[in-house]
Amino acid sequence: MIRVFIAQHPAEAHFFKGVLDTAGIESEIRHESLFGASGGVPVNEARPELWVLDDARAAEAAALLRQQGPTGLEASRLWRCASCGELVEAQFTACWKCGADAPV
Ligand SMILES: [Zn+2]
Repeated sequence: MIRVFIAQHPAEAHFFKGVLDTAGIESEIRHESLFGASGGVPVNEARPELWVLDDARAAEAAALLRQQGPTGLEASRLWRCASCGELVEAQFTACWKCGADAPV
């Protein structure tokens, strides 16, 4: 499983899960109950997370979220290296495997 998104609140997590459901990509939301337990006050540790069950579809899911997200950016925690095809976490600006630059 690969985490593809950290939502600001549960409604956002469910919205993006719906996007993936529509595309036939299985996903699940984690930490939603923690959010509720925090009394509705979002704290970093309690952000709902969206995980894609099938690792092979994580890049596809991230691309979909990027398209859907008005704020886009946080939606995708992964990018796929155009050179070697490796999945790379968003904070890296170059592929850890082959050193190719991240797509703009
Ligand atoms: Zn690469």
